[in-house]
Amino acid sequence: MNLFDVYPLYNITPVKALDYTITDKNGVEYLDLYGGHGVISIGHTQPDYVAKLKNQLDNLGFYSNAIQNPLQVELAEKLGKLSGYEEYTLFLCSSGAEANENALKLASFHTGKSRVIAFNNSFHGRTSAAVATTDNKKIVAPINAQQVVTFLPLNNIDLVEAELKKGDVCAIIIEGIQGVGGLDEGTTEFFQALEKICEANNVVLILDEVQSGYGRSGKFFAHQHHNIKADIISLAKGMGNGFPIGGILISPKFTASYGLLGTTFGGSHLACAAGIAVLEVMGNQKLMDNVNDIYAYFLEAIKAVPEVIKVKGKGLMLGAEFAFDVFELRKKLIIEKHIFTGNANNKNLLRILPPLTIKKEAIDQFIIALKETLAELKS
Ligand code: PLP
Repeated sequence: MNLFDVYPLYNITPVKALDYTITDKNGVEYLDLYGGHGVISIGHTQPDYVAKLKNQLDNLGFYSNAIQNPLQVELAEKLGKLSGYEEYTLFLCSSGAEANENALKLASFHTGKSRVIAFNNSFHGRTSAAVATTDNKKIVAPINAQQVVTFLPLNNIDLVEAELKKGDVCAIIIEGIQGVGGLDEGTTEFFQALEKICEANNVVLILDEVQSGYGRSGKFFAHQHHNIKADIISLAKGMGNGFPIGGILISPKFTASYGLLGTTFGGSHLACAAGIAVLEVMGNQKLMDNVNDIYAYFLEAIKAVPEVIKVKGKGLMLGAEFAFDVFELRKKLIIEKHIFTGNANNKNLLRILPPLTIKKEAIDQFIIALKETLAELKS
């Protein structure tokens, strides 16, 4: 059987990884400045994480959500402490799309309304229940027969207000920082206004922190840069450092009832072990401090590359914008310089989403490689 061919692949086969380095089957080492779409938070094969997962697998990998699982409680406690959302509750699932699907469902149950507001160029997942747009071609997937999504431009609160006045909106869903779309983000004024009008109109504010969360922006959640609180926060990617785990943090204003939400795999023993290990390493190694240090270092270092016209994003969720399509540049960085970076719907943007453990030497290596490659492309 062949694979359904939906991914354009580089001819590289990674077989081993350590922290922010990946080794392919020919023994070639790559610098990982992409972390598999911002998934690798605490570094590849982090020893405490590996030990915890192995130990858990030796004992109990999975059993259903119908029995007690103290690992879920431990994960929720640790997540509450590190994120500053201790009074919220946690529902566990297995991916970002599933997290958003449950967030939207909950918003609809809670408000008795169904329409959803999302923003142009946002990306919230690809299941039939989530909302996605790619490259401004809208994949407007109805959440159920009644739910419809309206896309609006970012940072225009008047347009949001006009939609809310119609009285049928259950939720506004917004990324802390847009990932796939190209690192645009709401202003502090916009986020604060959203928080206010959601409260005033009985609309649920969902912060999709699937990519921008888990310390990647330099705070635990990117929306915490704007001093707001969300009603529901969706998580995945960095949460398991590669083990599939997602979740939503739910405000105390929501009432749980048996059967309201559910999942087979979410919150398995193995997934929780991964999630707990990530939080322990993040705390013990003070990785958010490292994110902020490396961000400051990057901002200085990138000044040596005049072709970069703008740096977008925050922390280690960054985009270097050029005045040209970066397809060739990115390819040369991977094939010739052995450095992984990412692309975005904005074709001029090189995305940088390394493990949060990355060191200054790696940034130096990237800057040298970038300058050399740009010089080659010019000649
Ligand atoms: N939300 C955001 C902001 C994302 O970036 C993604 C994936 O890239 C998703 C949701 C969907 O996550 P998943 O692919 O785990 O379903």
